[in-house]
Amino acid sequence: MPELPRRKVGIVACSGEEIAEGTVTRLAALRVLHELRPDDTVTICLPLFLAGGEGDRAFARVYPTVTIDGCEKRCAAEGTATYSAPPAASIVVSELAAGCGLGPIEGRRQLNEAGRLAVEATAQRTVELVDELLKAPRARRFTGTLPSAGP
Ligand code: SF4
Repeated sequence: MPELPRRKVGIVACSGEEIAEGTVTRLAALRVLHELRPDDTVTICLPLFLAGGEGDRAFARVYPTVTIDGCEKRCAAEGTATYSAPPAASIVVSELAAGCGLGPIEGRRQLNEAGRLAVEATAQRTVELVDELLKAPRARRFTGTLPSAGP
């Protein structure tokens, strides 16, 4: 029997440079991609995606994606929806951190303690979503936003 391609979840982090929450998105995505779920996830580079990277756009049309945004502007979620397909699930770090009682998050280059805890909470939430998406039958692929609060 031919081996079917392994199903993966695309992780799209906004990686915003203006606020520390953007740094949290990048570090949380890396933790998921390299340490927590390396076999189940792939990264989608948001700047390349927005610039017209057809490979990444095609992936996000076929496979589920989880977007991780630093703030309510939701650049990653909006960009993914505009250029490919709505993300299967999305996380907003500022909301997740507030829900966990973390803050203020500071330090774009060197995160403070709240920022480091937010990285872990965001990574854990992402893993929950990835596992849930991989368990869901393809026909029931999520098309909306799952609640982002709570680790
Ligand atoms: S979602 Fe917020 S933090 Fe991320 S790139 Fe957009 S404005 Fe910056």
